[in-house]
Amino acid sequence: MARSFAGLARNAEKKKASIAVSKEPLESPPLKIFTLGDQVLRKDARRVSKVDESTRDIIKNMLKSMYSAKGIGLAAPQVGIHEQILVIDLEIDNPTTPPLVLINPEIIASSATLDTYEEGCLSIPEVYMDVIRPSNIKLSYRDEMGRPKKMNADGLMARCIQHEIDHLNGVLFVDRVSNHESLGVALKEHGFNSKDVQSI
Ligand SMILES: [Zn+2]
Repeated sequence: MARSFAGLARNAEKKKASIAVSKEPLESPPLKIFTLGDQVLRKDARRVSKVDESTRDIIKNMLKSMYSAKGIGLAAPQVGIHEQILVIDLEIDNPTTPPLVLINPEIIASSATLDTYEEGCLSIPEVYMDVIRPSNIKLSYRDEMGRPKKMNADGLMARCIQHEIDHLNGVLFVDRVSNHESLGVALKEHGFNSKDVQSI
């Protein structure tokens, strides 16, 4: 039997819409974001063996929580889910651009060129510090439909992906800050404790 084009279009629409959520902040976001000092942030995340509807439910709730906190990236361990799932959206003020979902992301190449850039984290609110990382990366991952993908990233996207992948390994950006004195001051100022930093 031939499939009608209308049917195909509906299917395509359904697939595209599978993780679509509004970028408007919610008064009570579905997931709590844990903060520095909570051991939940220090546990490794396990690989996702099958990407299914329950994975996409997690993704949608992560997106809602990220948008509500006005963040551009969120890793599942930050909401207490120890699975290798990241959501990123560098255009949170643009209601129509889709977010990037990275499942089981792996960096397969990093540039020798390094960049210094000021980072912040939803798990360490209001603390911003310089971190040095490779400028360009190449990675493999699965998307929200479980399809294997590869991508190159530079600039803010490369920065954000590396920051979020660190979360999957229990690493926080403050662990990578080399200026310990300024870090200590910034953490104290915002009610955090330097002893919760695990320098690497
Ligand atoms: Zn973070």
